[in-house]
Amino acid sequence: MFEKIERVPGDAILGLIEAYNQDANPQKVDLGVGVYRDPNGHTPIMRAVKQAEARLLESEQTKSYIGSHGDPRYGKAILPLVLGAGSPVLAANRASATQSPGGTGALRLAADFIRTQLPGKSVWLSNPTWPNHIGIFEGAEIPIQRYPYVDGDNRLDFDGMLAALKQIPHGDVVLLHACCHNPSGFDLNQDQWRQVLAVVQERELLPLVDFAYQGFGDGLDVDAFGARLLAENLDEMLITSSCSKNFGLYRERTGCLIVIARTAEQMENVRSQMAIVARENYSTPPSHGAAIVVDILESEELTQLWKSELTEMCDRINTLRRDLVDSLKPYGLDQRFAHVAEQRGMFSYTGLSTAQVKRLRDEFSIYMVGSGRANVAGFTSENLPYVAKAIAAVVD
Ligand code: PMP
Repeated sequence: MFEKIERVPGDAILGLIEAYNQDANPQKVDLGVGVYRDPNGHTPIMRAVKQAEARLLESEQTKSYIGSHGDPRYGKAILPLVLGAGSPVLAANRASATQSPGGTGALRLAADFIRTQLPGKSVWLSNPTWPNHIGIFEGAEIPIQRYPYVDGDNRLDFDGMLAALKQIPHGDVVLLHACCHNPSGFDLNQDQWRQVLAVVQERELLPLVDFAYQGFGDGLDVDAFGARLLAENLDEMLITSSCSKNFGLYRERTGCLIVIARTAEQMENVRSQMAIVARENYSTPPSHGAAIVVDILESEELTQLWKSELTEMCDRINTLRRDLVDSLKPYGLDQRFAHVAEQRGMFSYTGLSTAQVKRLRDEFSIYMVGSGRANVAGFTSENLPYVAKAIAAVVD
């Protein structure tokens, strides 16, 4: 039977890692894969995480199953982090969290919930978006539609976005990146979020807010502005939250799907469906990462440590953004790349073309995704002058 099965090309980013690893150039620079890197190019385990893990090793009493919603303490800890401790939605008991294997698992839960409970709805994705959004919703057999997000001059196309949202059929699902848009790095400002809210209300859309980078843009609360604005002004919404980046728990697969319903009663109904969707996918979520998050968020001391480490990472990324623009000044390119300092999160749509990206790789051993997306955390004070010189050599 297997003789008919075709081999498909591997993931483009994984291919990039392989090519980078095989490159013997000592000046090589990896701006590809989406993980945070410290000034030494490492993806460190946060100190707060290490300390929580050490405590867990001592205190964990069983490896028995946790339920399909995961550890209830995780939900209790994560809801105020995402929605704000004083959220009226929490006070009204209208929100529920179902722990999932990372943000990806949460998206798959959302997709299966939409397919089984809201049949016929399309999901509207930004163009561009994280490619796995397409795979996840296609995999769940949900019709996909797109709304514009970045224009041909590599700028946020907010007018195009809003005009498209105004045309979406009533009741469809619109996926919005809460902050640190992947792949572009272009985020909505607060006024733009208010305009999106008005359209969502007018069209009675169901927002699905993908919140994979809370704390990587301008801080935990600022980054939550859009998600909280929608949560506090709408009856219903879905949020997928991930602890992969902000707790550095990538491989521990830690996240959740948050449901907000009109009433506590309706929330319990939807929550009961989420348990079924989870059970049919993977039964129960992995425990370790969520247990670490609980341990950190339940301890004032570890929370302080974690927040200071997260702030350090966030500041480093934003400093590197400005440093890249400064490094391009001697080449007269600082205006052309000024948007890099304006964007937020790990990624930047640099505006470099596929041909320029190829030249950077072939001639300078600088690796980034063909779309011109760079992982800003891959810059260091050592490699920035080299990267700037290389960019100046390949742009016209
Ligand atoms: N959404 C977006 C926009 C992402 O960039 C990512 C991670 N690359 C995720 C969701 C999922 O993250 P994870 O499954 O690793 O938590």
